[in-house]
Amino acid sequence: MPHHRPADAMTYPRFQGIRTFMRLPHLADPGRWPEADLAVAGVPFDSSGTYRVGARFGPSGIRQESMLLRPYHPELAIDVHEHLSMIDAGDLPVTPGYLPESHAQIEEAAGRLLDAGPVPLFLGGDHSVSLPLLRAVAKRHGPVGLVHLDAHGDLWPGYFGGKDTHGTPFRRAVEEGLIDPGRSVQVGLRGPVYGPEDVGLPAELGLLAISMDEWHEDGSDRTAERIRRRVGATPERSKRQSGTRDDLAPLYLSFDIDVFDPVYAPGTGTPEVGGATGRQALRLLRRLAGLPFVGFDLVEVMPGYDSGAVTQLLAANVAYEMIALAAVAVRDRHAAGPEALRHEAAS
Ligand code: MN
Ligand code: MN
Repeated sequence: MPHHRPADAMTYPRFQGIRTFMRLPHLADPGRWPEADLAVAGVPFDSSGTYRVGARFGPSGIRQESMLLRPYHPELAIDVHEHLSMIDAGDLPVTPGYLPESHAQIEEAAGRLLDAGPVPLFLGGDHSVSLPLLRAVAKRHGPVGLVHLDAHGDLWPGYFGGKDTHGTPFRRAVEEGLIDPGRSVQVGLRGPVYGPEDVGLPAELGLLAISMDEWHEDGSDRTAERIRRRVGATPERSKRQSGTRDDLAPLYLSFDIDVFDPVYAPGTGTPEVGGATGRQALRLLRRLAGLPFVGFDLVEVMPGYDSGAVTQLLAANVAYEMIALAAVAVRDRHAAGPEALRHEAAS
């Protein structure tokens, strides 16, 4: 089976060619998806934004700014392309303006991608797309632990009389049993809300909330340790069973770009001041290495509101950190030996 990598930057300058994520091969044909260990896919749906819209251009904007990403991740000491055959699967189909139809299309296409084998990395789109994505993931993996970075909890009951907006996906996910609240955590929450009861929403639904203030106070390493404990990764367990899927139940990482301060990420729909710096969030993500993520999404990037493409560049780098997390997981499973791989094949 071919091992898919980006175009070689030593042969073809980075500004040349058609834009796929990292200049990976564009394999839109589902018949070829089994060739990949990780597939990047756009989900350009933005009809459920409650304020600004424009995340339909998120996937193309992130791809545009992904050209400078290089194979070797120094902090995690890993060549991501050595461990992962990677493709850009193109964009999932959507019908602009039609939420139920689009969510059904997204769930179906995401399901096909999951069934083909690769770990998916979805580029939104507004945050409503996480609901059909989680439906597809939970159908295959069962309820997942959710690691959710966002200025907002996205747990509101509804908006404008509608149940599904980009402010509601995780309440629906809890109601539908797609995520296991006891192994789920929301990180970076901040900003004014509608009343004191909103602050208590995560706890009411059983999720752990780590506010942006706590993250600022504790630092990224201690915050990452809290996340790891929440999803079940105690240090002892990690050491004892490193690399096997017995270690932990599957996790899903959903990253709303507005967890960053608008200074770092102005190109988004509902910016909140006092957010994370680029370094803070990259550091936090790196400290999650070794956790068994079965899928990733990165949402709410709006190139139309961006300035100097800084949001898109930062988003491309967040996607790269997700890829590195997937690469570390594959490397560790291989390092754990045939026992772990047999387990993987059987699961
Ligand atoms: Mn969100
Ligand atoms: Mn948000």
